[in-house]
Amino acid sequence: MKYIALIAHDGKKDELVEFVSNNREFFSKVPTLATHTTGSKLKEKGIDVETVASGPRGGDAQIASRITEGKVAGVIFFRDPMGKHPHEPDINMLLRLCDVYNIPLATNPATAELIARNIA
Ligand code: PGA
Repeated sequence: MKYIALIAHDGKKDELVEFVSNNREFFSKVPTLATHTTGSKLKEKGIDVETVASGPRGGDAQIASRITEGKVAGVIFFRDPMGKHPHEPDINMLLRLCDVYNIPLATNPATAELIARNIA
């Protein structure tokens, strides 16, 4: 079964944890993959998730690599539109590969809701 990837910038981590908590039924049925700090926050809430490196240390690139391997069914990436990020090139690469491989990509809770309802 393919992964749902979960990533949130610092200003959006609480929102992502809330989103996953509110959709526990969906997330109990799919394998999840998260960047390190996002994954740690989810684990604190008892949510099971596989983690890769932190985003600024290459975690987005690792998730992008799983996309190229055909192992990702969807990406939920709550970006902070008000922040600047040292790993902007990695972020853009991940977003680009979602388009290259036609992977559903949600950057806000409203769209993430649609993914959680439609991927099973
Ligand atoms: P983090 O990475 O979950 O390790 O904070 C997310 C990011 O900033 O891309």
